[in-house]
Amino acid sequence: LFAAVEATPNDPIFGLTDKFNRDTDPHKVNLGVGMYQDDDGRVPLLESVRIAEERLARAAKPATYPPMDGLPDYNADAQRVVFGADSEAVASGRVVTGQSLGGTGGLTLAADVYGSVSPNHKALVSTPTWANHIAIMRHAGYDVGKYAYYDGRTGVDIDGLLSDLSGAEPGTMVIMHECCHNPTGYDLTRSQWDAVTEAVRQRGLMLLIDMAYQGFSQGLDEDAETIRRLAAAGLTFMVSSSFSKNFSLYGERVGAVHFVCADADEAARVRTRVKTAAREDYSTPPLHGAQVVRTVLQDEQLRDTWTDEVSTMRERIKKMRTGLVDGLRAAGVTDMDFINDQAGMFSYSGLDKAQMEELRAVHHVYGTDAGRICVAALNSRNIDHVVAAIAAVRGQ
Ligand code: PMP
Repeated sequence: LFAAVEATPNDPIFGLTDKFNRDTDPHKVNLGVGMYQDDDGRVPLLESVRIAEERLARAAKPATYPPMDGLPDYNADAQRVVFGADSEAVASGRVVTGQSLGGTGGLTLAADVYGSVSPNHKALVSTPTWANHIAIMRHAGYDVGKYAYYDGRTGVDIDGLLSDLSGAEPGTMVIMHECCHNPTGYDLTRSQWDAVTEAVRQRGLMLLIDMAYQGFSQGLDEDAETIRRLAAAGLTFMVSSSFSKNFSLYGERVGAVHFVCADADEAARVRTRVKTAAREDYSTPPLHGAQVVRTVLQDEQLRDTWTDEVSTMRERIKKMRTGLVDGLRAAGVTDMDFINDQAGMFSYSGLDKAQMEELRAVHHVYGTDAGRICVAALNSRNIDHVVAAIAAVRGQ
């Protein structure tokens, strides 16, 4: 019966890692990955997480089923991280939060829940975007279109973006990255967000804000500013937030989905939808990662440790960005300073497919064909090699 099954094409990012693993050159560098690494090139086990794990192990309990929408106190903690401790929207009971299987699971739950009321099953994503946005929305039955975003000269093509939003059909879901845009690294300024909010309101669009990198741009609170301002402005919208990156808990699948509703009554009805969507998909979310995050967030000291650890990751990424720009300048490449204007783990380097191929084939430096490099995978030992490699493919 499986005779007619055709293999799906390789995921480009995982395919890149396969090639990297087969490369035997001692200087090889994988800048295709989507995980933060420390200066030793390792995905860190955060100290806050290690202590929380120890506490959980000491007080080990049987793994009973959590509610379909997750552990209530984990959801409350996630709300505080995303909306702030003094959020009016949260206090008035109009924010529904459900535990999700990472940010990916949050996007899926948002798509499912909105799918039950969406008038047109249309979704718009940025050009370019994280490829899974398109796949997830198609899988959930949406017709996926694109809005203008990246402009090689100015970073964000705000005029194109606003024009695409004002031409969108009312009710269309618009997925936007809160910060650390993947893959370009270019985020909207506050005034650009104001213009987007106005367009969304006027056109009656449904925003789905994807926050996979909270804390990796300016700070945990600063990076959630847009979400908090949208909630304060009374907009109805959705958020998918992830702890994969900022807790370095990629494999535990810890995230949350939030629906900011008009009032508590609407929120109560939306909550039933979140439960149904989870029930039909996987029944109940996994316990362990949520317990780790909850343990950290509920202990003031551990929470402070975690906040410091997020700062350390953020500052290291910034240091690598400036290191890359300075190194390239010293090597004669003077037109790549824009890397310092970008934020988060990724950077659109502006290198084309042929240059990216040359980086791989000749210099054993792996990034995506579109020119995306993971700045968070640079370290004090590989940065000189990467600088020299980029300078070489740029003809310097
Ligand atoms: N959104 C974006 C923009 C991402 O880059 C990622 C992870 N690469 C996710 C969501 C999903 O993250 P998670 O691992 O938490 O599912």
